[in-house]
Amino acid sequence: MIEPVREGNKQVERDTDEPERLVRQSIFILLCRKNRFDMSNFPWGHSKRYNDFSTYFRAKMGGRVQKVSVDAGFTCPNRDGSRGTGGCIYCNNKTFKPTYCNLQNSVAKQVGEGIEFFARKYEAMKYLAYFQAYTNTYAPLENLKALYEEALQHPKIIGLVLATRPDCVSDEILDYLQELSERVYVMVEYGLESHKNETLNLINRGHTFDESVRAIEATANRNIHTGAHLILGLPGETYPDFLDQARVISQLPVENLKLHQLQIHRDTRLYHDYKLHPEKYKLFEIDEYVNLVVDYLELLNPRIIVERFVSESPAGMLVAPNWGIKNFEFVARVERRLKERNTWQGRLFQ
Ligand code: SF4
Repeated sequence: MIEPVREGNKQVERDTDEPERLVRQSIFILLCRKNRFDMSNFPWGHSKRYNDFSTYFRAKMGGRVQKVSVDAGFTCPNRDGSRGTGGCIYCNNKTFKPTYCNLQNSVAKQVGEGIEFFARKYEAMKYLAYFQAYTNTYAPLENLKALYEEALQHPKIIGLVLATRPDCVSDEILDYLQELSERVYVMVEYGLESHKNETLNLINRGHTFDESVRAIEATANRNIHTGAHLILGLPGETYPDFLDQARVISQLPVENLKLHQLQIHRDTRLYHDYKLHPEKYKLFEIDEYVNLVVDYLELLNPRIIVERFVSESPAGMLVAPNWGIKNFEFVARVERRLKERNTWQGRLFQ
């Protein structure tokens, strides 16, 4: 549970359950290694077989929390020429913009409309403003401050989630976010996409994995929450690469993880190449991807909170793979497979 505590002459927020969680995690790793594990010992403190985000977050915040997407009109350095042109080969930003998120509206209006949209279902819900489209730290600091503060004006907003690239966070921005995170919840969600420089090059990311590591460490060192987004199935990567990724990410101070299956969207460079050379692409069948997720979870550090396994895209934009199932249905399949295999997140973590 997050509670205010005094540090010197400052009041900051601390997770009071953290020490207990760390002790449970150490016992868990020890028992897994000795093959003497019993289900009541999951270090995340509940009976799900992985450290899932919604249970964790609800306990941490003392109730339901919903992200409200905001499009603040940012661009991307991988499109405007400062890091690259043309963007990442799979990118079509329209795929992650909800209908209430209209660039013609101010941040305050988007936040207000987003909250109104969800408040009909759950009156008591709290909200995080999710700056999602493009690169949400890519502007001078004064502009960023104005946009973030505008979102925080809404009384039901308790924090920010900022999606960005690892090469777009300066010390100046992180210092400001550190100050801000003493007042509200702040998470920087980095698009890492792959742990292999060869792949990052091939998909035209315009940054290296070293830059990803540096950004995550610099963020975590300032006690700002860190998120990582990775895509499984990128061209050129193999099953051993995916599993190796779980081991590599486990060693970083990543707090939250989002995994996505590779999807081909219309109007992307990936789509045009896929039409010409479909044999180059290994798109997962649902069951195959469920097994991969379970193999991945077994290797993943139990400390890492898992927020998503799959991406859902508007049907008109998605070309393949077309699974036709919702996120919660996929999660149910993963939970079932974990049980069938009598395994859990971190069972093989070293
Ligand atoms: S995925 Fe992100 S970094 Fe890549 S082109 Fe799109 S907005 Fe830019």
